[in-house]
Amino acid sequence: MTGRPSLRIGVLALQGDVREHIASLDALGVDAFGVRRAEELERCDGLVIPGGESTTMIKLARNFELLEPLRARVAAGMPAFGTCAGMILLADRIVDGAEGQETIGGLDITVRRNAFGRQVDSFEEDLPFAGLADPVHAVFIRAPWVERVGERVEVLATAAGHPVAVRQEHLLATSFHPEVGGDARVHGAFVDLVAAR
Ligand code: GLN
Repeated sequence: MTGRPSLRIGVLALQGDVREHIASLDALGVDAFGVRRAEELERCDGLVIPGGESTTMIKLARNFELLEPLRARVAAGMPAFGTCAGMILLADRIVDGAEGQETIGGLDITVRRNAFGRQVDSFEEDLPFAGLADPVHAVFIRAPWVERVGERVEVLATAAGHPVAVRQEHLLATSFHPEVGGDARVHGAFVDLVAAR
């Protein structure tokens, strides 16, 4: 699964932990780059949407005139992988969003923002992950969980009884941050998904 320099995978670079994702993708040998403009989005075979702050990221996407192009590409089947805030951006529905908080959408899930509560702002846990032989070391930071999934959604991992990693066709999302901690396997699964399309 390594060494695919012909695959171009963008990382939405409006806000959040962009560099860590680019480093994870670089380590897998793909052509990884930041995306801030519609022309850059057009070059992408797949897109990672990082963690950060979903309310800020969606506003910036609108200001940068990227929101409609993002919706169009995702709806047209471009593979996308959202982590934490990125999961929120891919979700069709949000609970506890900011008033009127928009999303890119495409993933038939309801996410609850900051779901794990104030006392546990961040925590780490080893989670079994469908398709991976060994558990993934998952780092959660003010993370959402998935409250409801549509019937085309496959649950890949759960924590506290809620889905925290899901896949629906070309869309992958995790509540946690696989870009921290040096385990490239979830990114590897996304690269495989991009390669398969
Ligand atoms: N709580 C953040 C939000 O709602 C997500 C946190 C993260 O991405 N680490 O956007």
